[in-house]
Amino acid sequence: MSTKISIIGAGLSGLAAAITLEKAGYKPVIFEATSEAGGRVKTDLFEGYQLDHGFQVLLDAYPKAQEYFKYDELQLQRILPGAILFNTGKSMIIGDPSRHMGFLFSTLFSGLASIKDVYLLWVLYRKLQKTRDEDIFKEEEISTLAYLRKRGFSNRIINVFFKPFFTGIFLENELKTSCRMFLFVFKMFGKGYATIPKGGMGELPLQLLKRLQHTTINYDSPIAKVEEGKLILKDGQEFTSDIILIATDVAGIFNKPQQKQLSWHSCETLYFETEQRKIKKRIIGLITDSNALVNNIFYPSSLGYESKGEKELLSVTVVREHSLSEDELVRKVSEELKGFCDIKELRYLKRFTICKALPSLTHLTHSWDEEHGRLGNTIYSAGDHQLYGSSNAALLSGEMASKAIIANLQKQKNRSKAVP
Ligand SMILES: Cc1cc2nc3c(=O)[nH]c(=O)nc-3n(C[C@H](O)[C@H](O)[C@H](O)COP(=O)(O)OP(=O)(O)OC[C@H]3O[C@@H](n4cnc5c(N)ncnc54)[C@H](O)[C@@H]3O)c2cc1C
Repeated sequence: MSTKISIIGAGLSGLAAAITLEKAGYKPVIFEATSEAGGRVKTDLFEGYQLDHGFQVLLDAYPKAQEYFKYDELQLQRILPGAILFNTGKSMIIGDPSRHMGFLFSTLFSGLASIKDVYLLWVLYRKLQKTRDEDIFKEEEISTLAYLRKRGFSNRIINVFFKPFFTGIFLENELKTSCRMFLFVFKMFGKGYATIPKGGMGELPLQLLKRLQHTTINYDSPIAKVEEGKLILKDGQEFTSDIILIATDVAGIFNKPQQKQLSWHSCETLYFETEQRKIKKRIIGLITDSNALVNNIFYPSSLGYESKGEKELLSVTVVREHSLSEDELVRKVSEELKGFCDIKELRYLKRFTICKALPSLTHLTHSWDEEHGRLGNTIYSAGDHQLYGSSNAALLSGEMASKAIIANLQKQKNRSKAVP
């Protein structure tokens, strides 16, 4: 097992790849551009508050998350399966009636969902619980909006619930994302809960890191270029490697002729300190006005966090594009919070602008394959962009790419043994 395997990137996909390679007896070396692991999943401590880099959750029904993480050690904090919808000071609650009977009445009496909508939601929920994940990714690939219309949901529930809710998940506000993603996420919401570890989302990569025994990680080591059997760091240092797994967007590092540039959805999360919580429950708030800049709000301090700060913490996510300066953005967001949710007296803490938050993909798949993931003789690629934008996909792609590497190395070994 002396084969030199290098992994570029210590995000979830790179870490899952290292775990898989270690299990097969290899000792990979990771080159990570930044000073810490986690990639898009990180948590900062700021004035005593845990601030995730962008509002994100772990759906505890994700099959790969169940395999890779020890949930009890993460002390996952559940968010209620529903949302509070805000518009000009008024609010109503909508949710998953199969687990919270209280939500059934609020959903029906909100006037938002017709009886037909509730029935269609139930039918979809039942259908998906019986559908294998692989089969979800064989569904005809149309946009989520087209899919919802095709199934007969009313314009009202689409505009007032599906659009704001899934804008926060897809990080685009027109529901253009493939219906495969919608169906997978809807199934996961139906099977489990949206959760956040007690120590913040950054606990996820930290737990994976702890499992690595024979992996070397070189931090602050941005790779400038990859060639067959060779990595070149930005400072000019060169390393040879038998196998290279690029566990991040390959653009700029390795360019294949006619390779399409990946495009990304972006978002911003702003954190505020407040005296009181407008939403008492552990539930997400959505702004349903289609012209609003703010998409969703959540009070992380409603969860049992390890480090809670002194007051209440409010996270506010903006998906819509804008050209506002930081001051203008804070002013506009504060105005919207006051106008739509009656939330006042905020102290701005910090914002995270994430330009490459989720890959914008036209073809979503559940399975990594060599045709797309093998870039050369010795070069492979992994990351959520290979499958679909989610932490489950990041773990799955890292695992599948490294299993392909292990299988190919084994084949090579068998061939060389066969030669007399
Ligand atoms: C705001 C936001 C909200 C999200 N919400 C959810 C959610 O609710 N649920 C969900 O399942 N998923 C969510 N996601 C997606 C999820 O975070 C990603 O799918 C997952 O983290 C991707 O992991 P990855 O390893 O593929 O890539 P990354 O996390 O991007 O890791 C790539 C790593 O490679 C490193 N790197 C890049 N270039 C180089 C280089 N040249 N040399 C060396 N190292 C390099 C980077 O520093 C990084 O550490 C969200 C993401 C964001 C940003």
